[in-house]
Amino acid sequence: MTDFKDRISLARRRIAEADALVIGAGAGLSAAAGLDYSGPAFKKEFADYIARYGFPDLYSSSFYDFPTEEQRWARWARHIDYIRFRPEAMPLYKDLYDLAKDKNYFVITTNVDAQFRKAGFDPDRIFEVQGDYGLMQCATGCHPKLYSDKEVVEDILAHSHDMTVDKKYVPVCPVCGGNMDVHVRKNQYFVQDEAWQQAADRYERFMTDYADRRKVVLLELGIGYNTPAIIRFPFERITYQNPEATLVRLNAEYPEGPAETASRTIAFTENMSEVITKLDEK
Ligand SMILES: [Zn+2]
Repeated sequence: MTDFKDRISLARRRIAEADALVIGAGAGLSAAAGLDYSGPAFKKEFADYIARYGFPDLYSSSFYDFPTEEQRWARWARHIDYIRFRPEAMPLYKDLYDLAKDKNYFVITTNVDAQFRKAGFDPDRIFEVQGDYGLMQCATGCHPKLYSDKEVVEDILAHSHDMTVDKKYVPVCPVCGGNMDVHVRKNQYFVQDEAWQQAADRYERFMTDYADRRKVVLLELGIGYNTPAIIRFPFERITYQNPEATLVRLNAEYPEGPAETASRTIAFTENMSEVITKLDEK
């Protein structure tokens, strides 16, 4: 099926008939929504870092091995503020909420920018698997607790100069006295606190109740092959195992799926905002 209109009307019908809607979202969604990790806004915001360190994009800059915690946190503060605190809900996320709000939905996302919550999605129906830029943890996970980093970020931004900040503004672990890290999964020390575990359980239950046996639409948005085992492969497996499942895949680069589920996969490589707007038309 290649005709855009036909795919839209089929997907819209499947969503209307579904008992449940599972939204699985990756980096491609926030990029399409306009959170700029490598374009003009990034280049303006991080001009000094680009000039000194040659960072090609925001994502890779977060792995740079700074010699001091003061420098590392000065960069993180700007990063977190730019992606997590400053932006309001992006229009694409709001359109997505309009599409989902009257349905029995659940969101699983690898994004750490809190856009689903900002757009109005019920926090009890969101599982942010990979963390949240708005939280921090002990860098070695010495205790399973998360802390807001909002004030830390504000203080660092207010007092940083020349891409570093005085030591007194750098957060330290209240338990072991070691370094703190942003709550984003990057190694084995990622903290899965009680709230994270509860979200994981709710997602698991939702999938058992609906995705495995009922009429379900799996709406997959911008998920490539960075961490396909979290959303992309499970969605393909459910589509294969549950004859009532439909996979709606929005992906400009990797729309292809296994041949076995091709008949129940509706793929879009077109502009994500346009597709979501069309799916939402009554
Ligand atoms: Zn600690």
